[in-house]
Formats: sequence, C-alpha cells, structure tokens
Amino acid sequence: MADIIQLLPDHVANQIAAGEVVQRPASVVKELLENAIDAGANTIKLIIKDAGKTLVQVIDDGKGMSTTDARLSFERHATSKIKSADDLFQLNTKGFRGEALASIAAIAHVELKTKQETDDVGNTIQIEGSKVVTQEIVVTPKGTSVAVKNLFFNIPARRNFLKSDAVELRHIMDEFHRVALAHPSMNFLFYNNGSETFNLPVSNFRQRIVNIFGSKTNEKLVPVNEDTEVLKISGFVGKPEFAKKTRGEQYFFVNNRFIKSAYLNHAIASAFEGLLKNGTHASYFLNLDVDPQTIDINIHPTKTEIKFDDEHTLYAILRSAVKHSLGQFNIAPVLDFDRDPNLDTSYTQQKINIKAPQIEVDRSFNPFKNEPIKTESKSSFSGRQTTSFKPTPNNWDSLYVGVASKEINNNNETLVDFSEVQFESEEQTASMFDNDEVEQANTTYQIHNKYIVSTIKSGMLVIDQYRAHQRVLYEDFLKNLTIKEATSQQLLFPLQLHFSKQDVEIISQLKEDLEFTGFLFSEITKETVEITGVPVGVPESEVSIILEQLISDVENEVPDSNFSAADLLAKSMAKSLAIKTGQALKKDEQEHLVNKLFACKEPNVSPANKTTFITMSVDELDKKFI
Ligand code: ADP
Ligand code: MG
Repeated sequence: MADIIQLLPDHVANQIAAGEVVQRPASVVKELLENAIDAGANTIKLIIKDAGKTLVQVIDDGKGMSTTDARLSFERHATSKIKSADDLFQLNTKGFRGEALASIAAIAHVELKTKQETDDVGNTIQIEGSKVVTQEIVVTPKGTSVAVKNLFFNIPARRNFLKSDAVELRHIMDEFHRVALAHPSMNFLFYNNGSETFNLPVSNFRQRIVNIFGSKTNEKLVPVNEDTEVLKISGFVGKPEFAKKTRGEQYFFVNNRFIKSAYLNHAIASAFEGLLKNGTHASYFLNLDVDPQTIDINIHPTKTEIKFDDEHTLYAILRSAVKHSLGQFNIAPVLDFDRDPNLDTSYTQQKINIKAPQIEVDRSFNPFKNEPIKTESKSSFSGRQTTSFKPTPNNWDSLYVGVASKEINNNNETLVDFSEVQFESEEQTASMFDNDEVEQANTTYQIHNKYIVSTIKSGMLVIDQYRAHQRVLYEDFLKNLTIKEATSQQLLFPLQLHFSKQDVEIISQLKEDLEFTGFLFSEITKETVEITGVPVGVPESEVSIILEQLISDVENEVPDSNFSAADLLAKSMAKSLAIKTGQALKKDEQEHLVNKLFACKEPNVSPANKTTFITMSVDELDKKFI
C-alpha cells in the first residue's frame, strides 16, 4: 500500500494552530499588548474598531525589530525570548512560544510597521492569510505598530461564531485591564471607535486601580503586604461592605502576569469568611512575586493558568496575609464578635457591692382572664365571627380555572388538572377548634420561611415563595417593558451611584429598557449614574443592588441570537426584588402572593424554569400512612 501520511502545508498548520491561540478579538489584544510590554515600551496605545472585528491595533515605543526580524516574527516558533528549554524556567517575558504573530497572520490581514531606535528608517510588512503581500522600507517612529484587520476573514464559521459587539468589547476590556493593572509603570491608552476610553498615566498600583475602576474605588481598598522567603504579596483587597455580586474585580498577578486560580481564590474567600453577605464576592488586586523556578506557566496555551511547586504553602500565606490586613484595618472581628460590650463590668465597678434590682409585680394579673386569644391573621379577614371559610373574589380556586396547564410527572402522566382543583372548605376542620376565640379562616401556612402550604380539594399545595414571587414580578416587568409604560416613583433627592466605566456602559445600553420598568435617569457620565426615579415599590436602598445584579447577569448571560435585553432585565429585576427564602410572610402577604401567582400566564415555573409549586393529593398522602 502507498504511504498516506503527508506534512501539512505551513499555512494550513498555521491556521490550525491559530485556533488554539486566537479564539476571539480579545486574544489578539492580549498577544499584541504582551509583545509591546516584552519590547520594553513606555507607552502602549490600543485602537479598536467594531469590537475588534474590523480592527485591533497596538502601537508601542519599544525596541522595534530589524528588517530580518520583522520578516521572521511571522514564522511559527520564531521567538527572541527563549533559546533553549532551560530558559522556560527563567521566564521574564510574557511571550515565549513564538506562535502569536504567525497564528494571527494566518487568519487576518496584518500590517506591521517597526523601527529600531538607531535606524533611520523602518520596515513595513503586509500579510494576508500567512502570505506576505508587501515588505518595504517606511518612515515610522521608533517602536512597533501591528494592525490586525478583518479577523477570521478566511474562516467564516469562526467569524459567525463571534458574539455581539458588546460582549466582544467586554472581553477586550478585560484583557486590557489585566495587562494595564499588571504594569502600572507604563502609560496605556485605549481608543474605541475613535474615542478615548482610557488614558492611564504612569502611576503606582493603587492609582492604576482607581484610574481603571473609578475614583470611588479608592476608599474601598485595604492594603495587603507580606514578605516571606517563598512569596512576596503586595496589593489590595476590597472592604467587605463593598463586596459585589459579580466576580469581576478579582485579580491575581504572578510575576506581573495575570493568572486564574480557583485554589488561591479560595484562600481569599476563606480569609473573608463571616464578613461577606451571602452571594457576594470580595474584590482583590494582588501581586504575588515568586521565584520563576518554582512555577510552570507552560500548562495552557493562553497562559492564564500556572502551576506552583508548593501550592499549599502559598494558600496558607495568602490566607493569613489577607486575614491580617482585614484585622489590622479593623475590618475583621478581632476578639469575640458576639460579645456585647454593654455587659462588660468596668474595673471601677467591680469593687462596688452590687444589689439585686427591685422588681415590682402585679400579682393580680391573669393573662387568660379577659383578653381573647388573637392570631396575626386579623388583617385579612373581617372579624372573629369568621369561623368558616368564606369565598371572596380573590379565592384561588377561581384562579386555577384559567390555568390549563397540567402537572406532569416523569412518566408523563398527568397528576393534577388544575381546572378541576377546588378549595376545600375549612368548615370540617374548624370544628376541631371550637374555641371561637381562635380565627380559623386562613388557608395558607408558611413553613421554614420558605414554602407556603395550602389545602386544595384534591390534597395540598406547596409553593416555593421565592420562585413564585420571581414569576409574579417577572411577568409584571415584562408587561411594562412590552407596553412601554411604567409608573415611576420620584425620589426626593437624586441618587448618585458610582460604577466602573464598563459597568456604566452596560447601564447606558439598557437605559431605555430600564426606563420602561420605572427607572428615571437624570445623568449618566463615565463613572456615575444619577437616578431621579425608581419603579414603584422598589426601595431606594435596593437600587444599587438591583443594578449590580443586572450588570452581573448581562455579563454572565451568553447572549446569542435570541438574546433579549428586556427579558434579561425583567428576569434580573425579579430575582433581585423577589421576597427571599427566609423571609417571614404575614397571612395576607401569603395569600396575595398565591393570588398573584395563579393570575400569571405561566404559574408553574419560575423565570429560570424551575418548579414554583407542587401538589400532593390525598391519595398520595394516604399511601404514606399505610
Ligand atoms: P513570542 O512573543 O512568543 O516570542 P510572537 O509571535 O508574539 O512570539 O512574536 C514573535 C517575535 O516577534 C517576538 O519574539 C519578538 O522578537 C518579535 N516581536 C513581536 N512583537 C514585537 C514588538 N511589538 N516589538 C518588538 N518585537 C516584537
Ligand atoms: Mg508574543
């Protein structure tokens, strides 16, 4: 048989390799920024058009390349940064694979201009899909400019796979932030579609964080510094009260390289234990300096994960350093947190003889004498004479009638047909409590501050209060958004909220939809949002939480073709505002919720498609008592 194995032509091999290195425009941004840093630049300019789909350009004032190097830089495995495998353990540069430029050139139109300081003129090279189109002499300032146009022009499937501009831009911003945070001693500029989004001057680490995330960040930062033999830690953690629902502001830099590490993240989380509200995450900006010999950054092609020789020690040091800082800045409970200082006896008082306080008692008082026993349920029913269930227009059985949906169990059998579900009268049970002091009219009970239980004709109904309320609010918001009408509640004083630039961008994109839910904005600047009105029923104190949740949801949602901002907004607001598990509800509140749930179009599921209620028939109960 003939031999069948062939070597792939270079341009095909490059295209395949490119898939590894370049997943999206943000990957190009990362590679080009890192090359500029490795070239020793002082000022780095990033220019983006159409979220990088049309143009990603990085201009630096670094050392530039010679004529031969300029040409060679596009060859695969061409690098000036390592010479042998040994160098891998002494890395001081970002790059070392020599793959990035070759990969990018395989799938885009690339224009390189570069000049070394001592040369009079520089070189320009144009490459399209790995083919050199031109290479000429050019007059250009010292340094290098790489312009990447029409990314994935020859891989349409990839190009179509790219997400919306908002999402791609978000990824680009993330990369930009990571690199800019890791190098505060360099000046970074970012132009997006012709306008200057960031101009970060040379500064210290704290100022760099503030310049990126907004001036309000300054007061949130707690310094962390620890110098040990194996590890030097410097940087900041965010005060617990500013913890966010998003994991956005969490940065580890190991030897000036941004890394992700779930393990080290856990170390921080455990240092914050007991200080954070549920569902929030501490922010941190931490530089870890370690001996390059003790890490291996070679395990992932896009290089955000690294391997440490001794992770356990790092974990312990990091955790204690953060704990120490939180304690030192009076943030953590240092001694006994639960102790009430009012109960402490002062030193001078210890010597005084203490008399027992006199207590006066009304011995004739009999709590059972005249007072009738009252229950909380008074508000929902007219008076004590109501001993039996009186149907009112709000009764849920009538609401069931409209609900055609049936609950199906795993075997596709219909368990309950809601059109037949009817409420049981309470009369029979009332006879068990013929003490007419006790009201017997209510049909709902709350258990564990989580479920609302009620009787129905066929048995019982158990409703998850958080999910049910989310459904109710979701449909309300969605309705407002669709009919573009909402009632707003004017605030006495405008509310000023501070966000990072990119968060403000998300809010401005959703501004119109937010207004249809009842929000009113008077001003949106680069870092602040001023609110003059909120949806009716939304407490002012909740506003920032709602917006933060929304930003986090927009970030985490993988927006695709059927992505709808209105839907996401309604879901997110419902999630923030719904009464949570753990909240005690009065009888009338329970009833109101159940009424509203069964007035919904789709009462069976929460906006996230989770079951809102279950039913259990008397038959099923009977079986349990066999
Ligand atoms: P790597 O960075 O892994 O070495 P790249 O493909 O990114 O691989 O770059 C190849 C080579 O091109 C680099 O090793 C460097 O010598 C040169 N180079 C790339 N970008 C620049 C730049 N902005 N300034 C100077 N030299 C550069
Ligand atoms: Mg590189």
